Amino acid sequence: MLFRTALLIVFLAITTAFSADTSTFRAKVIGVLDGDTIEVLRDKSPVRIRLYGIDCPEHDQDFGTRAKQFTSDKVFGKTVEVVPMDQDRYERLVAKIYIDRKYLNQMIVAEGFAWWYQRCAPKDDDLQIAENGARASSKGLWSHPDPIPPWDFRKTKESTNGKAHQKPEPKANYHGNIKSKVFHKPDCQYYNCSNCTAKFNSPEEASKNGYRPCTSCSP
Ligand SMILES: [Zn+2]
Repeated sequence: MLFRTALLIVFLAITTAFSADTSTFRAKVIGVLDGDTIEVLRDKSPVRIRLYGIDCPEHDQDFGTRAKQFTSDKVFGKTVEVVPMDQDRYERLVAKIYIDRKYLNQMIVAEGFAWWYQRCAPKDDDLQIAENGARASSKGLWSHPDPIPPWDFRKTKESTNGKAHQKPEPKANYHGNIKSKVFHKPDCQYYNCSNCTAKFNSPEEASKNGYRPCTSCSP
């Protein structure tokens, strides 16, 4: 019985939290983290919001800083209308933002400070029209002949970082048995024996250290 009650409470808590996030609300903008990410104060607690359907250039991309500045100029310290659309994988609220009845997300795209994030907002005509206009008049990021979409930029960066973090495999092609003083090639059955903890880059190096070649694998 107690368990059931606990379950019910958990269930209610989840549904309440979710339904609370789906209705439009007004809130003051207390932070601008990025051109497309802001923080508002709702019921005295900060809520991070990812702007729906747009993707601004990253900090280290051209126009990343300008995008942030634009959003900041428009809404920082002001009260905006928040229309929740979704929640992203970081559990941030994804929303349309209106300031003085104007659609902020669209304004950012129209100035060339963001891409229309078509994958996440395929049906948002306002954003599509805004992007077409910005492209046609080479505004902001469209002043580049071939701008890199931030989602591609992030992918490239991730794979480059991944490579940088991979430690190069230490070059130790020969293992020596520290007891018997015999050394082996990688394809030898004794290569990883419990006493084979000495590592050499070459047979010459092994010999110099007083090791003799294994008769089985003849390194
Ligand atoms: Zn061997």
